[in-house]
Amino acid sequence: MKKQSPADPRKRKGLIIVNTGEGKGKSTAAFGLAMRAAGNKMNVFIMQFMKGQWKAGERKSFEKLDPYVEVIPMGDGFTWDTNNIEQDKATARKAYEIVKEKLLSEKYQMVIFEEINYVLHYQFFPEDEFLELLKNKPEKVHVVCTGRNASEKLIEMADLVTEMKMIKHPFKEQGIPAQKGIEF
Ligand code: ATP
Ligand code: MG
Repeated sequence: MKKQSPADPRKRKGLIIVNTGEGKGKSTAAFGLAMRAAGNKMNVFIMQFMKGQWKAGERKSFEKLDPYVEVIPMGDGFTWDTNNIEQDKATARKAYEIVKEKLLSEKYQMVIFEEINYVLHYQFFPEDEFLELLKNKPEKVHVVCTGRNASEKLIEMADLVTEMKMIKHPFKEQGIPAQKGIEF
């Protein structure tokens, strides 16, 4: 029988990365990866799944990383106590179909599903369908999923999972409002 050679350390593999947990830094860590990738002339696509989360700071910085970073913020967004869950589901579906096409196009070396964990947690979108997409993703594309409450199944499938742990938050202990450059 042929002996298995050890994995080539230079082999490029697209990772499934999850940033989750209660502490701050999930989205900014994902944006940091986008910045790093763009510096390597890699193309990055970001789908922003949440309403009102897209801040001027990151948006303007990404404009400067054009053409390497492309971002689509979902206008309609999502709410937790909506009277129109069907509307939210339709929006999630629309966003998903766009990012799916981008992922499968292989035009991007990194695809970020920003706040996807919320969408899955609140069942605006069927998780199994998303996991199936990840299972069949182009091998070399890195996928980053952010948001609290990452599911067990997603964590199981991922290669790199980081849980941000909240130790202190300026608003929580001191009521300090959002600061420019830190929160937006
Ligand atoms: P960031 O975008 O700064 O990386 P995040 O993606 O980890 O943060 P989210 O769960 O998306 O955080 O939350 C959105 C915002 O809510 C963050 O900017 C964060 O600072 C803020 N936030 C998180 N925890 C608290 C808290 N306990 N009190 C007030 N605001 C909070
Ligand atoms: Mg976030």
